[in-house]
Amino acid sequence: MIIVMKTGVTTEQIEEVVSFVKSLGAQTHVDRGEVQTVIGIIGEKAEILRKPWGSFTGVEKVLEVSDPFKLASRKFHPTDTVVEIEGVKIGGGNRCVIAGPCSIDTEENAMLIAKSVKAAGAQMFRGGAFKPRTSPYTFQGSGETGLKILENVKKETGLPIVTEVMSIDQIDLISRYADVIQVGARNMQNFNLLKELGRRKIPVLLKNGIASTAKEHLMSAEYVMSEGLKDVIICLRGVRSYETAMRNSLDVALIPYLQHLSHLPVVVDSSHSTGLRSYVSPVAYAGMAAGADGLILEVHPNPKEALSDGEQALLPRDFEYLMQRLENLTAWDQKEWNKIEKSKK
Ligand code: PEP
Ligand code: MN
Repeated sequence: MIIVMKTGVTTEQIEEVVSFVKSLGAQTHVDRGEVQTVIGIIGEKAEILRKPWGSFTGVEKVLEVSDPFKLASRKFHPTDTVVEIEGVKIGGGNRCVIAGPCSIDTEENAMLIAKSVKAAGAQMFRGGAFKPRTSPYTFQGSGETGLKILENVKKETGLPIVTEVMSIDQIDLISRYADVIQVGARNMQNFNLLKELGRRKIPVLLKNGIASTAKEHLMSAEYVMSEGLKDVIICLRGVRSYETAMRNSLDVALIPYLQHLSHLPVVVDSSHSTGLRSYVSPVAYAGMAAGADGLILEVHPNPKEALSDGEQALLPRDFEYLMQRLENLTAWDQKEWNKIEKSKK
């Protein structure tokens, strides 16, 4: 449930409610907005709902929330979360493009890609050093060598680093190099990994699982957030469907849907959604047109030599073209539309 406080509520009035809830054995999450303060109640018992909330001077109304995700829910936190990574903002109207190779191979390639994507307008660099591959006989990532290359890329270009973690025992090592830790599709429901990341301070980019629903995706974000970390970026990378034309199927409608349910930023990965270079840019464009908060894309100067996912890698010039096109795009603004709809009533 959530308690919506009156406009102009005082700190004492908020405190009064918070300590009462705590005395009942539940936890609170206070979202103090400019206009409205909302107190979310976690671990509630049915009896809490029946308490005489009307007798608290600061309380405007009490709403029952049936969603199982709380901290990730927009009802608990009505304003957009803005994740800030070394000055780069994502969410709340700040759009951010992350680009780089699927996996780190040579330092030369990494530098070349980083410089070209930066020149084209990318704000963060991606690259996997630990790779979750379908076959144990294919390239598994370059491990710490790859992480050191990422470190050099950051030194040279200033681009913050996004890289994937596959297991709890890799977190300490990866944390020394990553500015954002990626949780891939195969680990979306590795709950122990999610909880451990939630106890750390590094923002998490959480991809959807290969056959997960949007609500399950948000439940995974909830796992991270329930341990304390609030900086979670939701990433849509498509799901396995009956359609075999492409690697996965991306439902663009999930962008406004997730933004409606949650305050977390939503980015689109059209590289893994499509698996084919020719379709990566139009789907990225569609995602941004639908109001996504950003993109994460794979780029390689010589896709034939890439050690993974070469067939979906954009060439630097493809990426540059996409970025130019995005400059002139007026993205759909669902919040603006909601306001117009509301004013008609
Ligand atoms: C990746 O980003 O390279 C990756 C392995 O992605 P996913 O988890 O979406 O398959
Ligand atoms: Mn990849």
